[in-house]
Amino acid sequence: METKREFLKKLGLLTVGGMVGGAMTPAMAAKGTSGAFATNKNIGLQIYSLGRELTDDVPNGLKKIAEIGYKSIELAGYRDRKMGKIEVADYRKMADDAGLKITGSHVNPPIRKYTKDNMGEIADFWKQTVEDHIKLGVATLVQPGMPTIDNHEDAANVCEVFNKAGEIVKEADIKWGYHNHDREFQKIVKGESTPQTSSHRSQKGDVVYDLMLNGTDPKLVFFEMDVYWTVMGQNDPLEYFEKYPGRFPVLHIKDRSILGKSGMMNFRNIFTKAYENGLEEFYVELENIKEDITQFEGVKRCFTYLNKAKFVK
Ligand code: MG
Repeated sequence: METKREFLKKLGLLTVGGMVGGAMTPAMAAKGTSGAFATNKNIGLQIYSLGRELTDDVPNGLKKIAEIGYKSIELAGYRDRKMGKIEVADYRKMADDAGLKITGSHVNPPIRKYTKDNMGEIADFWKQTVEDHIKLGVATLVQPGMPTIDNHEDAANVCEVFNKAGEIVKEADIKWGYHNHDREFQKIVKGESTPQTSSHRSQKGDVVYDLMLNGTDPKLVFFEMDVYWTVMGQNDPLEYFEKYPGRFPVLHIKDRSILGKSGMMNFRNIFTKAYENGLEEFYVELENIKEDITQFEGVKRCFTYLNKAKFVK
């Protein structure tokens, strides 16, 4: 027997989810908000995607992001206790005014090579950073830059620092995570030191990303997988979701350019498997637009792609 939903769909009445059995509310009608807008999915944007088109006029830029339909943003650009040139409290106000939720932020500590001697300094950096991010209202703080890992000793130090950062941030009810590129998929051999240059790829040893996943406490450190960079690192995101369930609650949804255009990313499989493994949040990231369009138009096309895709909840 067909359900009411299937029946209505057949009649062509269910073109817009949630509109059946009710009309627009007066508030929606007054705003001229269409039903389609009201059904937008919870799609986030990594604001790095917009570059200067956003930083040149933040209040209006944030409004434009919300108008496209994005509901949340992940910040990039926190430095010297500010968001670019803007005080964090002011930035929060601008996002609130635009109707956007700041859910995450990308921040790198000022030190690349972690040693027993500088771990305290890095911990102090995270303590200060978390104070500012409480004001911004984030749920997650993510390190997007890879520290130096030439050998297993470096990897162990990095994991120790990551766990400590997670512990500090957890006190404020914020989750700490790490975002990858492709170099994390290089291998290092125990007892040897291999400088990370893209031209040198060891065929044996341990994958750095796995050393990070295995060396950190799942209660303190999550992994925001950038699915594009994982593929560029010649690895399959799905295999990682399977191997480390629950470690990837947040994703960067990225393609070579506009989402879905290159054909190299199987987003249907990625989303399906990611949901099975506890996906909570994801952010669109866009670089390298090939067409002669603005970054804003690019992120709009990415939004439309995901908003229309049946595999995105
Ligand atoms: Mg990314």
